Amino acid sequence: MSRPNPVKALNGVRSGHICDRCNKCVRTGDLVRAYTTHYEQEGWMLRQVRCVECGESTLEKETDGADEAIVEALFWRHQLISVKVRDWSPP
Ligand SMILES: [Zn+2]
Repeated sequence: MSRPNPVKALNGVRSGHICDRCNKCVRTGDLVRAYTTHYEQEGWMLRQVRCVECGESTLEKETDGADEAIVEALFWRHQLISVKVRDWSPP
């Protein structure tokens, strides 16, 4: 089975603007890091959005069999753009 790429799925996705760890407001033009998981039924879903100071650049631990990734993106008017994969779980 092919693994859908998180970049395609998350480019332009709507995002919250509060860092999940420090509660700082993220503004348009800021870089953010997001933790995202993929399940077959729902596709790639944002789980946590953090400012770039708090965001991890690598995956910490495995979840329950889900495909997961850390992405970095530009926050732009409540959307994520210029999404790049920082870390992606092995198949
Ligand atoms: Zn933060």
